[in-house]
Order: sequence, then C-alpha cells, then structure tokens
Amino acid sequence: MLDQEFSDDVMNLRPRKLRLGRDVERLLEGVCGAEEDSGGSRNKQALRPNADSANAIRCAACGRVEYITREHCRCGHYLVGQIEDEYFAYERGLADAHERLSTAAERKLKPLRLATLAGLPFMVWPLLYAFLYGSTASLTIWLWTLPGIAIYGLFGVIQAKINAKRNASAKTLQAATFEQFLIDRAPVTST
Ligand SMILES: [Zn+2]
Repeated sequence: MLDQEFSDDVMNLRPRKLRLGRDVERLLEGVCGAEEDSGGSRNKQALRPNADSANAIRCAACGRVEYITREHCRCGHYLVGQIEDEYFAYERGLADAHERLSTAAERKLKPLRLATLAGLPFMVWPLLYAFLYGSTASLTIWLWTLPGIAIYGLFGVIQAKINAKRNASAKTLQAATFEQFLIDRAPVTST
C-alpha cells in the first residue's frame, strides 16, 4: 500500500499529543502495523517517535526509542513489562519518600508536644488562682495567660507546617496512578 513516493514531511509526522483509549490504540496499531509491513524496511526505521514525546519509551534491550503503545519493541523486547517495572519502581519511590517524611515529622513533633507542656502552667495558674481566691477581677492574673497563648500559638503554627508537608506527600502517594506515572515520567533523553 505505502510506496516510496511520500515526501520527507510525511515520514517525519509528529507523534500525537493526544492519548487515546487503549482499545483505539490497539486498533490503530493493527491498521498502521499492516500498512507498515508492506512499506519496506526504510519506512520502518523512519517511523520512530520523537524522543521527547510522551509517546516515547526507550527499549531497555536495544536502546532505541519506540512507541509506548506498542506491546513489543521492534527488537522483540516486551515493552509492557518494562513500563510496568518502571511504574512499580516509581510507586515504590514515592512510598519510600513518604515513609521517610512521616518518620522525620514524627521525630520533630515529639519534642514539640513536650515543649507545649511548658505553656500549661501559664494557663492553669490564673484559673487556679481564681478558683482558690474567688477573684477574677484582677487583670494582672489574666495577663499570665499571655505567654501560654503565645507558646501554644507558635507551636501550633510549626505543627501545622510539618503536618501540611506530610499530608502533601500522602496525597501524592494516593494520586500515584498509572496515568499520573505516564505524565510524570521523565522524557526519554535523545542520544
Ligand atoms: Zn528494542
């Protein structure tokens, strides 16, 4: 079907930016694959994806850039297996990072909780005084609560910061779907 008459522009078709459904990809693969077979080996070599494209994967066996939608590389290497391995490594990396962050956060929060106890007397003392002497009128007594409030406020802010970091990492881990992996995947570097 395909003869050798096409101009170079046709040969250098840019890879699609659009990612189609799996079934559509397979269908296209079948149609294009059949045409390609009759196209001769020169066409086969020319029709490789752009290395920077989201459609590209570098075959671990032959080192050439191949379409990510193909099950097998043109050298016969099983690309689906390769991309699955990459995905599991990516997911494991995120989980490890979250684990490290959680441990670090826990380590930081522990002394913080103890330090928060330091603010307790400032809060308890005025209450105790008011209870013992039945006087709540004196402003100086209530001024004692100010350092306590300051301590709680400061540690509250630090704690919120540490927790926000940890939650963000947990969210990333939760969102680590296969689709997200394909988006995050570092582009294949051209040789
Ligand atoms: Zn290969």
